[in-house]
Amino acid sequence: MANPKKYSKSKLNKFRNLIQNEIETVQNDMEEIKEGVIDSGKASESYVPDSVYSVHMADAGTDSNEKEKNFQFMVRENSYYQNLVSALKRIDNGTYGICKQCAEVPRNLCTTCPLIPEDRLLAVPIATMCIDCKEKDKMGLL
Ligand SMILES: [Zn+2]
Ligand SMILES: [Zn+2]
Repeated sequence: MANPKKYSKSKLNKFRNLIQNEIETVQNDMEEIKEGVIDSGKASESYVPDSVYSVHMADAGTDSNEKEKNFQFMVRENSYYQNLVSALKRIDNGTYGICKQCAEVPRNLCTTCPLIPEDRLLAVPIATMCIDCKEKDKMGLL
């Protein structure tokens, strides 16, 4: 590595705790959604509508929207979960907190390059780039 700058062990431990908490939260969320999907299925079976209109026009739509929403939520939670797991791996292999774009040659777009600012990691523990690099990356400038 061109630049050996890294976060200290105690800071990395702080990030590790944060990520592990997030993993637990996501796991709980996913459990709840799974249970929710089953519950809403049961509920709609036993549901007796007031009129045919309400079933076809309102409930049919609501029910599939609900499932669609749950599905989207699961997809999002699952990819967040994967990102959290790989963040833990980066802590273990010593690359956590180092901006992907600045690791070899710091671009010095922010004051902490090549390290991702601590504030950002506390807010977004799965971040792999500093904000400026991420913005440039999104615009295709890197
Ligand atoms: Zn960077
Ligand atoms: Zn930077």
